[in-house]
Amino acid sequence: MKVLVWNENVHEKHDPRVTELYPGGLHSYIASFLESEDVEVVTATLDDEECGITDALLDTVDVVIWWGHMAHGRVPDEIADCVHRHVLSGMGLVVLHSGHHSKVFKKLMGTTCNLKWRDGARERIWTIMPNHPIAEGVDETFVLDPEEMYGERFDIPNPDDVIFLGWFNGGEVFRSGCTWTRGNGKIFYFQPGHETNKSFQNANVQKVIKNAVKWACPVRKNMEIPCPEFMPLEK
Ligand code: ZN
Repeated sequence: MKVLVWNENVHEKHDPRVTELYPGGLHSYIASFLESEDVEVVTATLDDEECGITDALLDTVDVVIWWGHMAHGRVPDEIADCVHRHVLSGMGLVVLHSGHHSKVFKKLMGTTCNLKWRDGARERIWTIMPNHPIAEGVDETFVLDPEEMYGERFDIPNPDDVIFLGWFNGGEVFRSGCTWTRGNGKIFYFQPGHETNKSFQNANVQKVIKNAVKWACPVRKNMEIPCPEFMPLEK
């Protein structure tokens, strides 16, 4: 399996707390715990030409992981469209934390993807679909302290599955782990992962992301969805 971890890599340049927690940037850190005998990981950022994303590269990629926050607008529409097209033809997409406002996620959802937010809360996550492949080996409940509060209403279309629910110590709740299918592609959104919190170091969070990549990996890639006029097979 080949995974592309995409990170805008902007906070890393202005806030030393981010690189202290995640040396080499979020993309390098996420790549480091994903890489295994079965998983080849490549990374790309806004600094790369065309954001490091080309049709030819995505033809070879099974799953894209997306982290972005303050620079969603700097991703050219054509790049977001390219990722979108590949998802429809079977590529998996795992969107992390503030990626909820990325161009590609909003295009796939068709809604604003707005939510409530506040930095510096304590979150308790509940695994409410323990039999889902993305929940395999994940604790029934675990705490991230601190994590940014993301609260309902989260303006998303009804998910296929809500696997994780988040509760925050301000009283807010959130659908923290959701799945959808679009065309032939599987999509998973996971809420933890604010850049100045150490959530990506959490064993349960890492397990969820590893499971999600496995779940989103297509059985068959690059399946165009044609629209042919079709003659009857039976007289
Ligand atoms: Zn954040």
